[in-house]
Amino acid sequence: MIRSGFGYDVHRLVKDRELILGGVKIPHSKGLMGYSDADVLLHSIIDALLGALALGDIGTHFPDNDLAYKDIDSRLLLRKTYILISGKGWKINNLDATICCQEPKLKPFIYDMRKNIACDLNCDLEQISVKATTEEGLGLSGKGEGISAFCQLLLIKV
Ligand code: ZN
Repeated sequence: MIRSGFGYDVHRLVKDRELILGGVKIPHSKGLMGYSDADVLLHSIIDALLGALALGDIGTHFPDNDLAYKDIDSRLLLRKTYILISGKGWKINNLDATICCQEPKLKPFIYDMRKNIACDLNCDLEQISVKATTEEGLGLSGKGEGISAFCQLLLIKV
């Protein structure tokens, strides 16, 4: 048995926030605004995991009016989501994500993002793909107003 999932998320870039993507702190003059640490990549992955099993979305499970999630490390939310998925007998076959970000350059940080995600989802590095692209100066990511992320994944029943 297999199930596919898809997730999308976007957060606004603002001053005086840390930029955290895939659980990696990235040196930059701006960071993402959000109720949690605003890790847009991990949020798209959480939505894909939940979506694969038709379990709603990140807002259903971790509401942004709940003080428990204020400034929370999104890796904790990812791990909680994985516990939910694995508790129903599912595991990751593979995951492929793309971050749309004009700057900073994310290439030096991709390996550590994949390592974090593989660790939290209890799978091997080769099962986790993270890519970064610019949108050629167009739209919200291209103009530096925000960063978005897409994730597609396949779950298999164990
Ligand atoms: Zn988000």
